[in-house]
Amino acid sequence: MGCNSQDQEFDKQSQKINEFLQNVEHKIVVMSGKGGVGKSTVATNLAVFLSNQGYKVGLLDVDVHGPSIAGLLGLTGLRLNIIDDLIQPYQYTDNLKVVSIQGMLDQPDDPLIWRGPVKIGIIRQFLADVAWGPLDYLIIDSPPGTGDEPLTVAQTVTGCQAVIVTTPQEIALADVRKSIKFCQKVNMPILGMIENMSGFVCPDCGNRHEIFKSGGGEKTAVAGNITFLGRLPIDPGVVAAGDAGRGIDSLIGHTKEAMQHIVDTMLNQFNKNQKGVDLKMKIAIPLAGGKLCAHFGHCEQFAIVTVNDGNIVAQEKLTPPPHAPGVIPNWVADQGCTDILVGGMGEAAQDIFRQRGVNVLGGAPSDTPENLVALYLRGELTDAGTTCNHDHEGHDCGNH
Ligand code: ADP
Repeated sequence: MGCNSQDQEFDKQSQKINEFLQNVEHKIVVMSGKGGVGKSTVATNLAVFLSNQGYKVGLLDVDVHGPSIAGLLGLTGLRLNIIDDLIQPYQYTDNLKVVSIQGMLDQPDDPLIWRGPVKIGIIRQFLADVAWGPLDYLIIDSPPGTGDEPLTVAQTVTGCQAVIVTTPQEIALADVRKSIKFCQKVNMPILGMIENMSGFVCPDCGNRHEIFKSGGGEKTAVAGNITFLGRLPIDPGVVAAGDAGRGIDSLIGHTKEAMQHIVDTMLNQFNKNQKGVDLKMKIAIPLAGGKLCAHFGHCEQFAIVTVNDGNIVAQEKLTPPPHAPGVIPNWVADQGCTDILVGGMGEAAQDIFRQRGVNVLGGAPSDTPENLVALYLRGELTDAGTTCNHDHEGHDCGNH
């Protein structure tokens, strides 16, 4: 084939890619400086959680040397069909379509030994020749580092934004700084950073142990003027879920909530970017004696704190209606609250908040609303779960 016809082919493919991308609302590439930090786990679970929330999501694994998405979703051995010259993505659920290079290998364990141009070609093909259909989110899992694959994504996927995953260790953070520089060089906006394997919540005592000194990811994000999307703890359940081909949504408790918090923060970030202003937050805190009251359903008052541009701009104290199932969560949501900080809360109340789009942070200590909001805004209030502790006086956290 002559150069001209090759150019024409390339242009035709670029046109197909652009036609597809015009039907994708948000494009996100998940990157990491290092391998093994949980990048594929995060990419997979971003896709799973977003699709669970009703968004149409495509998950594309371009980690051609170590494709792990198929395994993480229990699709090992999956073959992708081609109908009418179009690759058919695997329909994981109604809302989630998955394409991985693994689906095109004869032997899933075969190593892929491909040079740059071949890798670039296959990534472009996954964007041009897949029957994705319209999507709200395209999540792309790219190999670690700053090689051909993230470069191809940055150059080909117009409007793509990066989510960077790191672990707390300095050695991982050093590589993250390279990823940040890479994004700046190729003009790809960074949507935010996630610190994975950040502390360990003991399943026996429920306490959080800082195995590595956590918080480095957030500090690196702040230093680079990047939004910190949140942290995921080390949790043997994450490995078990991944090995069994299930998402973190199948777990119970803290890690699932931490993942939900990351997704909520990311969604807020989109709102913020689209509006060009910081999202206004209204944070509810149940009070007794001026401090957070552990019994959410039986508190005296609620502090409703309005935050704009990261600053507290208003605070009011409101008396809730009498306790009855479902009443208080709906009342809090009716006040326009975006977030609620609590000690504990029952499942039913959590469900209502989720349905009403209010973020719940559990396990908050007894402190004043000002102090709690300041900690929350700095990302220093770790969601320790919303387990409801019934006390010996028969009180509960209410709203079951
Ligand atoms: P990467 O894509 O960065 O190479 P993976 O997502 O494949 O990393 O994860 C590597 C291993 O670490 C997997 O076995 C995965 O289950 C495990 N893992 C990822 N995140 C966590 C976590 N928060 N807690 C425990 N194990 C994790």
